[in-house]
Amino acid sequence: MKKVYWIVFLFSLIFGFFFTKELWKQINRQTFPKELIEQIDSRELKSKLTSLEKEVLNQFEAIKKREYNLKCDKVVEMIRPLLNSENGVELGSYILGKLLLSEQLSSKNSLFVLNKLRVLKMRRQNFLESIRYCLEYIKLAKYTDSDYDVDRGKMGLSIIISSLNGYEISNQILREIIKENQNYKGSNQVKIVALLNLAENNIRLFNHDESLDSLDEIMERSKQEAEIYINSLMIIVDSLYSYNYVYLNDKEKAKYHLIRAEEFLSKRQTSYFIDEHLYYAVAESLYNLYFELESFSEEKTIEILELVENKTDFGFLYYSYEVLFEYYKKISDFEKYEDLKRKYDKKMAKINEINYTMLSLYMIESLESGISNREYKQLVNRVVRMSLYIIGLILGIVFSIRKVSGLQEISTKDSLTKIGNRKLFDSTLIKISDKNFYMLLFDIDNFKKINDTYGHNFGDSVLRKIGYLLQIKEQQYKLNTYRIGGEEFAILFLGECCSREKCLNISEEIRKDIENLIWIRDIKVTISGGLSYRCNKVYEESDKLLYEAKRSGKNKISNNFLDNIGE
Ligand code: GH3
Ligand code: MG
Ligand code: MG
Repeated sequence: MKKVYWIVFLFSLIFGFFFTKELWKQINRQTFPKELIEQIDSRELKSKLTSLEKEVLNQFEAIKKREYNLKCDKVVEMIRPLLNSENGVELGSYILGKLLLSEQLSSKNSLFVLNKLRVLKMRRQNFLESIRYCLEYIKLAKYTDSDYDVDRGKMGLSIIISSLNGYEISNQILREIIKENQNYKGSNQVKIVALLNLAENNIRLFNHDESLDSLDEIMERSKQEAEIYINSLMIIVDSLYSYNYVYLNDKEKAKYHLIRAEEFLSKRQTSYFIDEHLYYAVAESLYNLYFELESFSEEKTIEILELVENKTDFGFLYYSYEVLFEYYKKISDFEKYEDLKRKYDKKMAKINEINYTMLSLYMIESLESGISNREYKQLVNRVVRMSLYIIGLILGIVFSIRKVSGLQEISTKDSLTKIGNRKLFDSTLIKISDKNFYMLLFDIDNFKKINDTYGHNFGDSVLRKIGYLLQIKEQQYKLNTYRIGGEEFAILFLGECCSREKCLNISEEIRKDIENLIWIRDIKVTISGGLSYRCNKVYEESDKLLYEAKRSGKNKISNNFLDNIGE
């Protein structure tokens, strides 16, 4: 039996290991909605790749799925050179999508990849998908309790929304970021960026007072930061001050901040922000347009416009259009004005189309409820999976116990009579060789005839019934009973019943009980047996006694007790 426990223990250990591993994976992994990740037909994609792109794809495909989490950084690094190649964005999306859908990534890596994917989508001005990625990013960041990532996600969302003229909504999100009390590392810089965006949105909304307030707050907050960062930041801050004062018709202050911005631009060492120089360029155009028209350069402004045409941040685009419109009005060049207007309308139509699609998407799909519905589905999915693993584990253990103990039964029990078999009889005899015991061997009388007359099946039922009777006796007297051959049985009297009197009585009782059994056929089944005390060749002795009982008329049990030898 000890062996059984060991095997069960081993089974549980193996199951336990896989179970825990699976559980751990379930807890840590992130599943992504398939509908979020654009499905790219890999065959179609492969057919149009350049050789460099193919090489990157091969490199990626050489990585095994279970290594995705470990090699996540490497994969992202791999696709970097693709960004400017022909099918780079598509291939990059394909690879990053595969990572996300693999369900192998940790939350941290999922966020990392999601952000890269969002940036990629923005390159194609795919606002709709960008917004979806942002929402997914925020949700996941909340789930992982990372305030920094939540704010980053919100910032991304606010920028896209303001690009689509949704300044009010964008401001709401930004104010949320600024108001929060979290003090994670770098939270001051995150708030500064939020304030910058807020200041810019408010210029677009003509809320110049509020815009100036935001810039003042940035000045306060920037005191905590390093000089190198401040130099980079102030190019934008002073440019935005200057925008505001131009609109507020305060030439002096506008000039003051424009000069400051120029100074910071000239001594900038490291760029912490994107397009700092564009902020200055627009500020200069604006100032010249309103206060020093003779210095205004149409070419320079058109240059800016062309530069920002395909940028996703539309802020500069609006400024440059506005400046040019204002300029053409001032110089009364209506032809140019009309040309520009057509161009502008086309661009706006495109943006409005995006807005419209976005709106209908929100209305029809109700993104938020869609997400929670999916969360619920994921939860159910996880619970079901978990339950399956647990059921599997239990079944595995039960199965292994049954299988192992079943094997044991097969090897020691007689299948027809359910008592000990010959193998068990032999092994027990060896085990008890130094103990005192009595042995009864018995054989059914005239069994051949029973078989011949009523058939083998009936013969089997006779054996079964005798087996059943022996089981009862075994329990009653704590005997060891065996079927050692066709219709031959053995009983070992050990321990409590190991006395001459007891074993004689029990043997006689069994003989009589069998004789008195009632059968569906009109027959009487009897046995003949040989009962011997323990001696050198106890089996042969019992067999000899059994033969004696047969010869002297059957239905009796012979013993060697009268001889008194060896007792
Ligand atoms: P005796 O009183 O001398 O023992 O006469 P017998 O007819 O019982 O003779 P013997 O012991 O030689 O015959 C045993 C018979 O038992 C032979 C065989 O057909 C039958 N037998 C052995 N095993 C099984 C079994 O598993 N099922 C059935 N139905 N019959 C069996
Ligand atoms: Mg026989
Ligand atoms: Mg017989």
